Amino acid sequence: MTIQLETDYLIIGAGAVGLAFADVLLTETDATITIVDKHHKPGGHWNDAYPFVTLHQPSAFYGVSSKELSKGRTAKIGLNKGLGELATGDEVMSYFGDLMRDHFLPSGRVQYFPMCEYQADHQFRSLLSDTTYQVNVAKKLVDATYFGTSVPSTHTPSYKIAESANFIPLNDLPKLEHGHQNYFVIGGGKTGIDAVVWLLENAVDPDKISWVMPRDAWLINRKNTQPSDEFFHTTIGAQAVQMEALAQAESIDDLFDRLETGGVLMRIDESVKPQMFHGATISELELEELRKVKNIVRMGRIKEIGDTEIEFEQGSMPVPTDTIFIDCSATAVTLKPHVPVFHQGTITVQTVRSFQPVFSAALIAHIEASYDDETKQNALCTVIPLPNHDTDWILCTAGQMFNQFVWTQEPGLKEWLIDNRLDGFTALMNNVDESEVEKRQIIGRIRGSAEAAMANVQRFVAEIHSQAES
Ligand SMILES: Cc1cc2nc3c(=O)[nH]c(=O)nc-3n(C[C@H](O)[C@H](O)[C@H](O)COP(=O)(O)OP(=O)(O)OC[C@H]3O[C@@H](n4cnc5c(N)ncnc54)[C@H](O)[C@@H]3O)c2cc1C
Repeated sequence: MTIQLETDYLIIGAGAVGLAFADVLLTETDATITIVDKHHKPGGHWNDAYPFVTLHQPSAFYGVSSKELSKGRTAKIGLNKGLGELATGDEVMSYFGDLMRDHFLPSGRVQYFPMCEYQADHQFRSLLSDTTYQVNVAKKLVDATYFGTSVPSTHTPSYKIAESANFIPLNDLPKLEHGHQNYFVIGGGKTGIDAVVWLLENAVDPDKISWVMPRDAWLINRKNTQPSDEFFHTTIGAQAVQMEALAQAESIDDLFDRLETGGVLMRIDESVKPQMFHGATISELELEELRKVKNIVRMGRIKEIGDTEIEFEQGSMPVPTDTIFIDCSATAVTLKPHVPVFHQGTITVQTVRSFQPVFSAALIAHIEASYDDETKQNALCTVIPLPNHDTDWILCTAGQMFNQFVWTQEPGLKEWLIDNRLDGFTALMNNVDESEVEKRQIIGRIRGSAEAAMANVQRFVAEIHSQAES
């Protein structure tokens, strides 16, 4: 059976990105919206998250524009102590569930089709029946699946695993009923970090943990991502350090030295040069914990976990006695070529601010709601690449500086940024008053270095591109 539907916008994906996009359309237009998703509940990958997952950024600027996620609390205990609360996976799911039930559907303008898969040509099908839906889309198709987030519970590892291996995805850690002599955490990204922290918090001896880290990563200090006034000196202060480092650095290595010395970026082992940057954000207390693990296995990626040997890209080692392997090799970042955000009736939501997918979705929806001309829309939405290598920090920052400059030149857009809760930082800087001398000095440092930083960052970008070509 085929059912015909009418809608202005057809959104594929009811993850954070699809919902943040729909939310702005609901607020700023009178359009009708149809949202289709394979999952049975709104929230995308958060449906499959591990039980101890939390956001890695403060809740205060995650979710959708019109609904606060944070309860305004500061963490009083734990490794995030003193910093803005981080919603747990359950809280994120409940937030998106409430949003759909109490706001989107009662508006009468949203139709939501869970357990359905979009196919092509404005057609989707039920995963549980023969029903297909053909949608007459009056305005645009919105692809909110571009990021292709993968999580341990639904991801298939790229290496072979012997049947004899005691192997679990990260999600199963809390199901362990007894201890092991050896814990092998596979993956140096944020999920690997979460696994190691969880083991340490649950009294596992750090010497029993081996951490397979194909590449070391630069990490963002969470202290610098707090969008509240009490953290002005660290958050905006870090932006000043960053701008000065960009303005003054004589080479790319010198730049990273300055960023580390100034507290903008951190790494687990100060003797190893990171080659990865995925935007993972952690607290200083978490970093202290992670440094307790001394068995870091740097032999590249695992190729095979055999009965007795573990084979890596660059060597092998015997499987230690009573080892449990914990897979954290799924990557939240699926690298794909970028496409124009606005193109012939389709909007492909990508990042227009570094590692801020929900802010980006909201801004793109606002641009869709406010402008008709596709060239103009794309000019306001230059895509920022998803970070992977260490030097991608520079490419992302360069793109971000460019977009920020373009947005502040556009009438009305700065005001939109100030008012939007997902932006986080523009309001913080804008609310400084004449009498706040120290804060004004910090802002002065940013402004004073901006021009030199912009010139120098272009030099580094050219160097990165020429190295990639040679
Ligand atoms: C553990 C973890 C913590 C994170 N913490 C943060 C954080 O603190 N801050 C931050 O900004 N980001 C964070 N991220 C990044 C995160 O990926 C984004 O915040 C955001 O949740 C991504 O949402 P999305 O909608 O792009 O993707 P998804 O959540 O993957 O949603 C995409 C949806 O599209 C659906 N879909 C795909 N194809 C189809 C199809 N053909 N038909 C129908 N439906 C389809 C999928 O079922 C899915 O529900 C985190 C990621 C992870 C894994």
